[in-house]
Amino acid sequence: MKKINGIAASDGIAVAPAYLLVEPDLSFTESSVSDVEAEVARFKKAVADSQSDVEKIKEIAKKSLGEEEAQVFDAHLMILMDPEFTGAISTEIENSKINAEAALDKTSKTFITMFEGMTDNPYMQERAADIRDVSKRMMAHLLNKELTNPAAIDHEVVVVAHDLTPSDTAQLNKKYVKGFITDIGGRTAHSAIMARSLELPAVVGTETITSDVKNGQMLVCDGLSGVAVVDPTDDEIADYKKKGQAFLDQKAEWQKLKNEPSVTADGKKFIIAANIGTPDDMAGVHDNGAEAVGLYRTEFLYMDSSDFPTEDQQFEAYKSVIEGMDGKPVVIRTMDIGGDKHLDYWELPDEMNPFLGIRAIRLSLKNKEIFKTQLRALLRASAYGKLCIMFPMIGTLEELRQAKAVLNEEKEKLVSEGTKIGDYEVGMMIEVPAAAMLADQFAKEVDFFSIGTNDLIQYTMAADRGNDGLSYLYQPYHPAVLRLIKHTIDSAHKAGIWVGMCGEAAGDATMFPILLAMGLDEYSMSATSILRIRSEMKKINTADLAGLADKAINESQTNADNEKLVADFMSKYSK
Ligand code: PEP
Ligand code: MG
Repeated sequence: MKKINGIAASDGIAVAPAYLLVEPDLSFTESSVSDVEAEVARFKKAVADSQSDVEKIKEIAKKSLGEEEAQVFDAHLMILMDPEFTGAISTEIENSKINAEAALDKTSKTFITMFEGMTDNPYMQERAADIRDVSKRMMAHLLNKELTNPAAIDHEVVVVAHDLTPSDTAQLNKKYVKGFITDIGGRTAHSAIMARSLELPAVVGTETITSDVKNGQMLVCDGLSGVAVVDPTDDEIADYKKKGQAFLDQKAEWQKLKNEPSVTADGKKFIIAANIGTPDDMAGVHDNGAEAVGLYRTEFLYMDSSDFPTEDQQFEAYKSVIEGMDGKPVVIRTMDIGGDKHLDYWELPDEMNPFLGIRAIRLSLKNKEIFKTQLRALLRASAYGKLCIMFPMIGTLEELRQAKAVLNEEKEKLVSEGTKIGDYEVGMMIEVPAAAMLADQFAKEVDFFSIGTNDLIQYTMAADRGNDGLSYLYQPYHPAVLRLIKHTIDSAHKAGIWVGMCGEAAGDATMFPILLAMGLDEYSMSATSILRIRSEMKKINTADLAGLADKAINESQTNADNEKLVADFMSKYSK
């Protein structure tokens, strides 16, 4: 048994064999061969083995992910059976008398370059990626290495990876993937946020899990305390299963609050909302009784497709969420691409510091046509319910004014075209410290604020949110962070606008009494945190909160001081 500590990223406990999602080393050395026939035969065997792999994966993917997702494997089979491609590799072995690995590498690169160059035929261009995949598979067979196939997982596993990109996470099949553990990442990394929305237990930032565990070894993923256990004993397995069941029982208890309003013990009403990434997340929104959607991260719409989503595709997605909420508010944020969120089809220059680079509104304002398409889709969707449009990463009033001007221009165009547009609100995220400091000025020009603590904390503390070595600097209670939050809330209220929070701190059960004390109006979080916070809220009497916020920002000196302050405050309710 080996215990490895990491960061608790998503609640729950999973016990299952490990599935390593780690790319093998496919490097090789070129060499000349004397027995050309034997080398061609070796290559043909790699082709046949790859073919039988792909057929198997295709069948499993069809059952677990559906027909459409499995179609990509038909393309792979076609390439493997195409004599023009595989024949060219055999010919290369024969003509150049080189090993199969070198011939495969050379030939596939030539084909990939050729397909990528077909700029007037996007379909053929996309085949380059298939050739790359298939070549990788053949190379793995030649080198006797095992490739990972997440789509082929057909039994319960805990996925182990160095890191998981948001699109990796989106591809995990919840039926079999019971949890995941990574080497890197922090609580607010996007893989962790996705895990919470998928309700998958997750531990991130273990640093070493990919080398501590082998494929198939039994593994506990304790997302409640941030611990991974390799090769647990039978007693430990029983203990963890019991702990997991206790968590599920607690969840069932919270479930009773699903249709109740979010009120304090003395009857003060607040809004508890959900963060979503795609319209598919709406089931979780309803199951957990959210009173609004407080953040729809639209970038996932861009990340999940192979080209920019059209205005109509976006309109349908936004409309479905707005209609789904049946008149309750829906805050839709314009795309926040950049940072750790990339699009395969949009090549952007490499940046030294992507989180300090051209991301979110900065990227939108530099690419107005793409931005306008999104705004038009949003404006059209506004006719179907209560839409709040929100701009991410605003740092200056000029950026806000420019974004609003583009929005107004598109609105006027749509109106003159006779398109129906509803009432909507325009707001901004407060996630750049400069915006928090200047919240009093910003408040005069928007209808609402939503505080993005994930970024606000990383920028205030100058600590990359995805770097597990710096996770100790993710300090939501740091008095400096709390001063920025309080200033933002006070400025909003002075200007008569509402203020919410959609960063992960809003769903942190220990943090939220301070936010309540500061008068935050709306709390938006992973849907799975909603009922827990609603249950905590019911315990609190707002009269008891007097002085708490003041102490937190004026008397406390450290994050730890404030953690203790809240723990002491809450202890009176647990008696
Ligand atoms: C935030 O920064 O707190 C936020 C909600 O935005 P994201 O996590 O998508 O950057
Ligand atoms: Mg952010």
